[in-house]
Amino acid sequence: MITVNEDLIMSPRFICPHCHSPVDPASLEFASSAQAYYRICPVCDEAVVVALAPGLAVAERAPAAGAQTAQEHAA
Ligand SMILES: [Zn+2]
Repeated sequence: MITVNEDLIMSPRFICPHCHSPVDPASLEFASSAQAYYRICPVCDEAVVVALAPGLAVAERAPAAGAQTAQEHAA
């Protein structure tokens, strides 16, 4: 029977964009706001955005110029 060290496989290093420290993703504290989900870096205590909250990305997406023109012509 072959035994595999799962820690070696399951620990992708997360590089903090603020302090560039390789940190264990499991040690990051999870936080969230109305705008986004965060992880808190244990080294520099900075919030790292993981993902935008549902709905925000859609609201920020501007309609294509061509589509808007077509709509104005149709109206
Ligand atoms: Zn950091």
